Amino acid sequence: MYLANFELKDFRNFEELKINFDPHVNIFIGPNAQGKTNLLEAIYFLALTRSHRTNSDKELIRFGSKFAGLQGKVHKSQLEVELKLRLTPNGKKAWVNRLEQKKLSAYVGQMNAILFSPEDLALVKGAPSVRRRFMDLEFGQINSEYLYYSSQYRQVLQQRNNYLKQLSQKKAHDQIFLDVLSDQLAGVAAEIISRRIKYVKKLNSYAQVAHSEISGQAENLQIFYHPSVKEIASNDDVETIYKKVIASYKRNRPNEIRKGTTLSGPHRDDLDFVINDKNAHNFASQGQQRTISLSVKLAEIQLVHELTQEYPILLLDDVMSELDQRRQSRLLDYIHGKTQTFITTTDLEGISWEIVKEPKIYHIS
Ligand code: ATP
Ligand code: MG
Repeated sequence: MYLANFELKDFRNFEELKINFDPHVNIFIGPNAQGKTNLLEAIYFLALTRSHRTNSDKELIRFGSKFAGLQGKVHKSQLEVELKLRLTPNGKKAWVNRLEQKKLSAYVGQMNAILFSPEDLALVKGAPSVRRRFMDLEFGQINSEYLYYSSQYRQVLQQRNNYLKQLSQKKAHDQIFLDVLSDQLAGVAAEIISRRIKYVKKLNSYAQVAHSEISGQAENLQIFYHPSVKEIASNDDVETIYKKVIASYKRNRPNEIRKGTTLSGPHRDDLDFVINDKNAHNFASQGQQRTISLSVKLAEIQLVHELTQEYPILLLDDVMSELDQRRQSRLLDYIHGKTQTFITTTDLEGISWEIVKEPKIYHIS
């Protein structure tokens, strides 16, 4: 799949932009603070309706403007889709081929994009929330049900937490209502957890291959999913997971009421990256973290392709200079001719020209 033309209105520092892209390699070059990352962010946002660097959509609207608009035409192997988003401080609207989509889960997935930026190093060493966000963004774009259940989960979790708070402050006493909320939340949690199990397994097998190729087989990478409900096993079905989540709520009940919050479930899950049987979170060097995060990105490309039969668009923000020749060539080998690629850089020095053949270059200022 590739993004053919793209339009922006009052997005970040872009007042108005109309641009045609190359189906292969596009390079955005320019000094600092010109809008290179903003442009990648805009492409990513058109695909996922979420930014990779902020949860607040308001920040994306150009200073002093009331709304922002994004629009693009995506060519896939069989068809073309026109995507359009409009952002206001109160929310966003989405159109596919001029038809408004009431649910964002029906919009996301039309275009797939994988973004790789220096902040991805935080995937290994950062807080668990970074890895949950990663799962939610990546699995949400390949499975619209995952996206749907994630937004359900956020809503019901908030209700349950509010009610637990009321119980903790003795403003409410009815535990039957807590049972109702627990039942709802466990149902949605089980759907999310079962998908996380499935997709992390697939990601793991692709990442293992990519990682051993990049590291020259000296290292073995494994990715494990850690549900916060520890009893859950990787071969459990949705019904079994549901029962185990309910059991954990029961077990935690006195604690949850005391603390006024839900103590287990998908919002407390984590991922482990393990190299040669050692947890990378504690032991990985800078170079190893880089190789792990690159392997995970390469694995995502494969995963998207397996599930959608299309290669996703690849967005590389300032990463070429971070990668040595070997990793650069590995990355570009992987994608060559398969995925449309966008690269940002402040200078062309760090980019290996034998690998990036005939790119289209855009000067951003
Ligand atoms: P670098 O090479 O340093 O990474 P860049 O070209 O990637 O630079 P961007 O991150 O795209 O730069 O940011 C460009 C500018 O956009 C920044 O100076 C920032 O202040 C500005 N900017 C960010 N959000 C908005 C907004 N909502 N409205 C207007 N300008 C904004
Ligand atoms: Mg930048």
